Amino acid sequence: MNCLPEGTLEEQRVGTIHKGFRFFMLLLCNYYLTYRCNAFCEFCHFGDHTEFKDTPFAKLEDFKSNVKQLAELGVKFIDLTGGEPLLHKEIHLMAEYAKSLNMQTSITSNGLLYHKFAEKLAGKINLLHFSLDSPDEEEHNRIRKVDCYKSVFRSIDIAKSLGEYPDILFTVTNETYKKLPRMHEIAAEHELVLLVNPVFSYFGNPGLSPEAVDYVDEYCDGKLDVYLNKGFMKLRRNGGNDINNPSCKAVSRVVVISPYNEIILPCYHFRNETILIDRPIKEIRQSEKVEQFQKMEGRFDFCQGCTVNCYFEPSFAFPTNLYAISSLTSKFKYSYNKLIKQKLRKIKFSNSTEK
Ligand code: SF4
Ligand code: SF4
Repeated sequence: MNCLPEGTLEEQRVGTIHKGFRFFMLLLCNYYLTYRCNAFCEFCHFGDHTEFKDTPFAKLEDFKSNVKQLAELGVKFIDLTGGEPLLHKEIHLMAEYAKSLNMQTSITSNGLLYHKFAEKLAGKINLLHFSLDSPDEEEHNRIRKVDCYKSVFRSIDIAKSLGEYPDILFTVTNETYKKLPRMHEIAAEHELVLLVNPVFSYFGNPGLSPEAVDYVDEYCDGKLDVYLNKGFMKLRRNGGNDINNPSCKAVSRVVVISPYNEIILPCYHFRNETILIDRPIKEIRQSEKVEQFQKMEGRFDFCQGCTVNCYFEPSFAFPTNLYAISSLTSKFKYSYNKLIKQKLRKIKFSNSTEK
């Protein structure tokens, strides 16, 4: 039995059926290379180093074996994540390997270590994001609890000098949402896209207030160089995931792998169970356990009201519900910026460096 769609496009969109159970297309792997971090952000649990400072780094050989299997299972995107992913000394080899399997790669970094990896990573990361929490140096450094504001701009300059077009990732909170116009200006000055990431509630953090949701939604409307997934905002307005009519596809569309070489279920943020990868991933994905989690995705008690962006982005990948339809325009805008506008600039850049 193959849980992956190999048939018609329609099957690929809605999934194949096995033993009366529907298997959806796997799209994304969130690969946690490390749980360690070099920042102490107040909205993130990796900011508490006491819990994570002695945790392991993902092994390159495990990574290669897992990613090869995932590519065979149809996974198209891999997010090399953490903690701070650039703390992993072999990240460039991992990115290179994933690219060699035609996967789209992404990294989000606080910028502190980018200068060390920039040349080795050039051309291997499709979506490179640098996090900036405020246009004000003092506020950004206070939120991150480390002096890293200047590192973000230094990283942007280095990346651009190598022909890369990173995005600026702004995690909007109830304290910072009114700074959105200035963040937009900064991104525009650097000819970059501003990714607006509405903070979500987990591990006791508050989510975005209704006033902030309205402000952010209105500001981003119609702006070509700002990416906000409108589906996220609609989901927030409706009170988040509804366990009686779930929109989450965390298990069907995403594989989450820990630095301990385990699959995490149903999602990282509300991990309920881990399965050691000691047999083929396909076998694990077809096990009763994963099947149970898949049936329960978005239906657990803790799923009520959930807005964890990392899982709703792939959940809204196909226009199968109103949230996904709402996100279509923003995805189109982002694709236009990345695939047309920035690609043309890249071609211009390589032509000028060849001369
Ligand atoms: S830099 Fe990233 S992973 Fe580290 S604490 Fe901040 S948000 Fe979390
Ligand atoms: S609804 Fe949220 S908590 Fe539940 S499985 Fe999905 S991402 Fe995890």
